[in-house]
Amino acid sequence: MALAHHDTTAGQTRQAFAPRSADALSALLLAHPQARIVAGATDVGLWVTKQHRDLEALVFLGDCADLRRIEETPQGLRLYAGVRYSEAHPALARLAPDLGELVRRIAGTQVRNAGTICGNIANGSPIGDMPPALIALDARLALRHGDTRREIALEDFFIAYGKQDRAPGEWVESVFIPRPAGETQIHIAKLSKRFDSDISAVCGAFALTISSDIVQSARIAFGGMAATPARAAHAEAALIGHPWTAATVEAACAALARDYTPLTDMRGSGAYRLAAAANLLRRIHAGGPGVLDNAITDSHAQVAHG
Ligand SMILES: Cc1cc2nc3c(=O)[nH]c(=O)nc-3n(C[C@H](O)[C@H](O)[C@H](O)COP(=O)(O)OP(=O)(O)OC[C@H]3O[C@@H](n4cnc5c(N)ncnc54)[C@H](O)[C@@H]3O)c2cc1C
Repeated sequence: MALAHHDTTAGQTRQAFAPRSADALSALLLAHPQARIVAGATDVGLWVTKQHRDLEALVFLGDCADLRRIEETPQGLRLYAGVRYSEAHPALARLAPDLGELVRRIAGTQVRNAGTICGNIANGSPIGDMPPALIALDARLALRHGDTRREIALEDFFIAYGKQDRAPGEWVESVFIPRPAGETQIHIAKLSKRFDSDISAVCGAFALTISSDIVQSARIAFGGMAATPARAAHAEAALIGHPWTAATVEAACAALARDYTPLTDMRGSGAYRLAAAANLLRRIHAGGPGVLDNAITDSHAQVAHG
């Protein structure tokens, strides 16, 4: 049963619900489509403490035991909405070691113990770290509205800055990450000024399949390069079907400038972001699996050594 708390101080009616199951949560959101879902509150909490925003109706999903599930199968990994970073970390690392490294770089222990993967996605930030990685891995999002469910490619969820493909009352029930094929290389790099608890200047993710020295497939996605997490369609096209050579990589690096027009802010200039993104691809070509391990600990080396 959903617990409800009503606060009528200062003449305002505020409501807080803590349903105990996904069904109850979904029914509550149908009845209160404008209510704010709270998962780990590691984003929402800051809206209150830093921005002093008033939140009228809250629905906390952390008490829904059926949303704390992780399903690990040969096909892939399904993480339900209540799964926190620290709970998902081992399974993500088994799916792709670089995903595990990425989680190690998200926030610090306390935030990883509270924040959820689905909250990182639903928040829709252009600099959230999980979306680019999961887009490169071709993840799918399961959305639920009442008893109706639909599944979309994660990359289609992010429509524009601050706008996601989610109707009022609809919520993210789970994310499914397919297990990469054995021959597919997964490389992920978070570039930030500090190792821990820092926001990415650039987060790049690459799923590359190369056989007989020809790039058979490429899915590349970046955070921090556009108004949403987004794929590098031109760079992918410059790679697919071409020999895995320095010349092909340079063509793909040049194509990144057609994929993105990154902003300049305190985390990095637009020129830095483009140069750093291209240098990640060059390092993958130069170094093979594991090559980005150094990249994730020293963002500035990307430009200096690229
Ligand atoms: C100190 C600190 C460091 C951080 N470092 C990083 C970092 O390195 N990288 C990074 O990417 N982020 C970072 N964050 C941001 C934050 O931790 C993540 O975005 C986190 O994953 C959010 O998940 P949550 O469960 O706390 O979401 P909440 O704060 O509860 O919710 C976030 C948003 O998503 C919505 N939401 C949550 N779950 C659902 C759902 N199932 N369906 C629909 N909507 C939903 C909420 O309504 C809200 O709009 C940091 C935050 C802090 C405070």
